[in-house]
Amino acid sequence: MATQFKLTAAARTISLKDVFQGGEAKAYDLFRTLRWENGIAICPRCDHDQAYEITTRRKFKCKACQHQFSVTSGTIFASRKLSFTDMLAAVVIVANAAKGVSAMQLSRDIDVQHKTAWVWAHKLREAMASETTDHKLDGTVEVDGAYFGGHIRPANLKADRVDRRLSENQTGKRRVVIAIRQRKGRTLSFVSKQEADGVSLVSRNVNRTAEVHADEASHWDALHALFPTLRINHSEAYSLNGVCTNQVESYFSRLRKMVEGQHHHVSAQHLNAYASHAAWLEDHRMESNGVVTRKAIGLAMSHPVSRNWKGYWQR
Ligand SMILES: [Zn+2]
Repeated sequence: MATQFKLTAAARTISLKDVFQGGEAKAYDLFRTLRWENGIAICPRCDHDQAYEITTRRKFKCKACQHQFSVTSGTIFASRKLSFTDMLAAVVIVANAAKGVSAMQLSRDIDVQHKTAWVWAHKLREAMASETTDHKLDGTVEVDGAYFGGHIRPANLKADRVDRRLSENQTGKRRVVIAIRQRKGRTLSFVSKQEADGVSLVSRNVNRTAEVHADEASHWDALHALFPTLRINHSEAYSLNGVCTNQVESYFSRLRKMVEGQHHHVSAQHLNAYASHAAWLEDHRMESNGVVTRKAIGLAMSHPVSRNWKGYWQR
């Protein structure tokens, strides 16, 4: 049996040991070179490429407009509370966590408040998700949906139990994650109230030249008018003549483990963030942790200040 990539030395190109031995200056240099080409500071206000460097404070002052800025100004990590060492360590921890990592665990690992870790991790997820914004899928594409949340614990006494399948006995918090995955390509995830919304999502995010694979659920019938569509009836087989939704199923398996094993309670409001995080991990699973770390930081350094997470706890 071939060795699983994650077990090989090639998969390990960065470690927490490297991060802490390297220290603040080295971590800072990494953020700087991932934000600006060759680390040459560009003024976020006027785009001028000459600035005085206030080395002691790791700040810059634009020679054209006098604006003072730092390497994280104008990015999703603006007004950061963490040191560069801690941020780099946190990204490595996230990069190593195949099923994601809870804010609770992160807050303990890098010794910061739970609130700080919670918002920081969501900012990183938002930046990672931006990698597939406006990305269209093509080739062979699988689509499926999986329901999350809205669980009602059955009552202790049998006599008190209700039929949890009936809508009047549900919480209204149940959501479906719809995943569209290109074989040898990217995974896109969406959160909705019903799986049938997947038809318009496929229509908007997949090129017309693609071949779409879906299961027997009747709402996917509408796909046939839009794409060459192949169906797999799961009551007969999981895969038949190359027709299957196995790739999208392995994505759901990762997301399910992430939600149940790490985060435990995921609100409908934040499900999308975890769904896209799982998609990102799935798509980058064959890359080394050093590459994944640099990609995640690069995305954060090119992502503007977050409307969702800026000043979250001050509201
Ligand atoms: Zn300027």
